[in-house]
Amino acid sequence: MILTVTMNPSVDISYPIEDFKLDDVNRVEHTRKTAGGKGLNVARVIKQMGEDVLATGVLGGTIGDYIVRELMKSEIANHFFKINQESRNCIAILHDGKQTEILESGPTLTVEEGAAFLETFRLLLSDVSVVTISGSLPKGLESDFYRAMVELGREKGIPVILDTSGEALRQVLTHRVKPFAIKPNLTELSQLTGREVEQSAASLQQVLSAEIFQGIEWIVVSLGGDGAFVKQGADYFRVKIPAINVVNPVGSGDATVAGIAVALDKELPVADVLKTAMTTGMLNTMEAGTGHIEYSKFEHFFKLVEVKKI
Ligand code: ADP
Repeated sequence: MILTVTMNPSVDISYPIEDFKLDDVNRVEHTRKTAGGKGLNVARVIKQMGEDVLATGVLGGTIGDYIVRELMKSEIANHFFKINQESRNCIAILHDGKQTEILESGPTLTVEEGAAFLETFRLLLSDVSVVTISGSLPKGLESDFYRAMVELGREKGIPVILDTSGEALRQVLTHRVKPFAIKPNLTELSQLTGREVEQSAASLQQVLSAEIFQGIEWIVVSLGGDGAFVKQGADYFRVKIPAINVVNPVGSGDATVAGIAVALDKELPVADVLKTAMTTGMLNTMEAGTGHIEYSKFEHFFKLVEVKKI
């Protein structure tokens, strides 16, 4: 079973308002509410691939209850650490072909709540074979919080795939105990290295050979419509994908993480892990819903992905 972690989930609300008026009343007819957060997208895609998944993280209040109900509707097993504060709403106003977002920062956790969650996480590790950790940390937790989770995974010999950015990612990578896999995009890689990273194989190979990346088994640098550049062990790969009809690319990185998790759990060969990851990413871009794939199309697109060792 794969465990997905979402430390700051949300209810994502979208308000389509054709003629949005500032400083006035705007009425909405077709509101859409979904359980959001990168880790929940990962969980949904794993479920759609027909694999066992357990969603964990931190939530609370009536918004937290809504998130759990949504997961139940999708038959996604979940075991969250409950807090007394409300989880957050994230609002997207879709107007005039634009998207204006209002993102609540969410609850502030106490140090004790952080420690109690770690204990929940430690116990859940007994029943799972792969872990994914996605997204940002809630307020109140130190930026090195994911270090402890990565360490617990290592202690139990469970691969941890970490998909986060900024300081939370840097803190883990500068630590002695490394995650098993990471999936940065070019922006996250540039943030991490403090300079604009170019997409060429030569430049990416040079960047990934830096000290900070040593000891990470899988580094999948996703390149949107250009596929991925990968370091696996001491080997480098360029992964190419076909041109497809993109409907909504939001969440494709999460779908890619889901693909990596499922393929690692099945202990597939390296090329097939990468083909799976690219295929789930592509399938997500072909659907309107974030964190949704049409799994019946998997075989077709899997065969079109090219993995070339450098
Ligand atoms: P993130 O959402 O983390 O920035 P990417 O945009 O790199 O991640 O997308 C992850 C994967 O999803 C890509 O490696 C690719 O397989 C697929 N993907 C994303 N955008 C496109 C696109 N425009 N066309 C085809 N595939 C895409």
